[in-house]
Amino acid sequence: MLRRLLHALPRACLICHRLHRETGPLCATCAAALPRNHTPCNRCAEPQAVAGQLCRRCQKKNPTFEQVISPWRYQDEVTRLIQQFKFEGRLAAADALWPALAQAAAGLEVEALVPVPVHDTRHRERGFNQALWLADRLAGQWQTPVVEALHKPRATADQVGLSRSQRHANLRNALQLRVTRLPASVALVDDVVSSTATASTCARLLKQAGARRVFVLALARTPRAG
Ligand SMILES: [Zn+2]
Ligand SMILES: [Zn+2]
Repeated sequence: MLRRLLHALPRACLICHRLHRETGPLCATCAAALPRNHTPCNRCAEPQAVAGQLCRRCQKKNPTFEQVISPWRYQDEVTRLIQQFKFEGRLAAADALWPALAQAAAGLEVEALVPVPVHDTRHRERGFNQALWLADRLAGQWQTPVVEALHKPRATADQVGLSRSQRHANLRNALQLRVTRLPASVALVDDVVSSTATASTCARLLKQAGARRVFVLALARTPRAG
């Protein structure tokens, strides 16, 4: 009853601030203008010129994970919404984005949702882990358990100026497994996939704990720089 009443009241759109009566936090115009990732690489979801292709990197080398599923491009208003969610704890901003991820990944058969960890200090500063919050939303939709299988006891050292392999080593040292046994098919959950370094490192660790297939679910994927 109360819920129906609340839905009947007009709300201000998070982007243009005009009043609307849509179910989500955005007006129909702003929701339709968000950049969709319509042409993802079939493996890493990096936006490509046309749909149904592999990016050059995935053509050369198979990633450790099965596939990244990411319905939005990390640009324009999607970037703003994710930053509001992540740094200001504005959950309505994520509510504008995560239902599309739930829909895009609806056919996946995974037995556990594993959030990418943030290190303890940052967790305390922000008060929450955005990946865990997202995993909880998806778990609610699918009745799939959330397993906090990974732990990040300290911050990743500054990645600037490091080679690719040094960056991987850096990440690997910062992350730890805290379970010994995972189901065969799991999904790693994160807000944004920019390089695939984090996803690859996490997938490798999850496989050490028995996962055979690791999918990566993220709200948004960064287009290739330049
Ligand atoms: Zn609007
Ligand atoms: Zn790719």
